[in-house]
Amino acid sequence: AKDGGKNRFSLFSHGMQEEVHYRLMIQRDLEPAILDNQLIIYFQPKVLAETGEVAGCEALVRWQHPEEGFLTPDKFIPYAEETPLIREIDYYVIRECCKKLKEWAARFDKPVPIAVNLSGRHFRSFKIVEVLKEAVASAGISPDLLEIEITEAVLIADPDKAQKVVHAIKSIGFTISLDDFGTGYSSLNYLRTLPIDIIKLDRSFIANIDTSEQDRRLTRGITSLAKGLDLTMVAEGVETESQLQTLLDLGCHCFQGYYFSKPVPETEFLAWHKKYNNA
Ligand code: C2E
Ligand code: CA
Ligand code: CA
Ligand code: CA
Repeated sequence: AKDGGKNRFSLFSHGMQEEVHYRLMIQRDLEPAILDNQLIIYFQPKVLAETGEVAGCEALVRWQHPEEGFLTPDKFIPYAEETPLIREIDYYVIRECCKKLKEWAARFDKPVPIAVNLSGRHFRSFKIVEVLKEAVASAGISPDLLEIEITEAVLIADPDKAQKVVHAIKSIGFTISLDDFGTGYSSLNYLRTLPIDIIKLDRSFIANIDTSEQDRRLTRGITSLAKGLDLTMVAEGVETESQLQTLLDLGCHCFQGYYFSKPVPETEFLAWHKKYNNA
């Protein structure tokens, strides 16, 4: 105990070294991983309260790493974001999802849109616009089936350029979704300057919704704001029946969260869809 401080320090610096080593390994292994199909796309349903129908889904990437095992995004996306490789990950996800949309169109009566997450790094040039256009054209699908999820991070580097890129994506016919809504510094300003179709209320609002009157009021306010602006609102991170009931009382209709389903592989998602859409 007497040299506990010293131990803590050495443990800490050891941890830092490990972190540096891990980061370099992840960044080194990413490029071959993309080429070698080690990235796996999971799907999490978005559910409509009235009918229990699947209104769409979000594509969330995982990595089957040859030595590290199955990695969730928190284990590699932050490191990928430090490099241009994050764009390659997103391109891969976009292309795969367009192919899925084409395959799914044949089996569903009603199309199920897929939402993909785009890093802020795409919004420094118009290349992403070309990649998206090319992906839907070669899959032969309608662009409105692909939802583009962006966060406030898109506007950080070069706001004027980023705005132009988002408008260009929208003008092709893609659906634009503002993710983690309510957590940034200027969520409302984004609604003024960007062509947003959907807002995704951040799960931090939902986490305490049963105990916090403040969070209930905020959620009610944001729900009616969305309604007034003719935006679709999705409540993220719904985990319990009681959160769902509270959200229904507050006027929310569209949900995503573990209460309904975790992100799952395609086959499980399709089975889930079949069960709830009676397809
Ligand atoms: P996000 O876009 O906010 O995605 C939602 C995250 O919340 C997902 O974590 C999902 O599994 C998790 N989640 C969903 N429902 C619940 C719930 O009821 N409770 C809790 N506690 N969590 C829930 P995941 O899959 O680990 O992804 C984390 C983040 O990684 C995503 O956050 C997104 O920012 C990023 N990400 C994932 N896939 C991609 C991708 O293809 N490209 C890029 N650029 N980022 C991605
Ligand atoms: Ca998202
Ligand atoms: Ca989110
Ligand atoms: Ca997030």
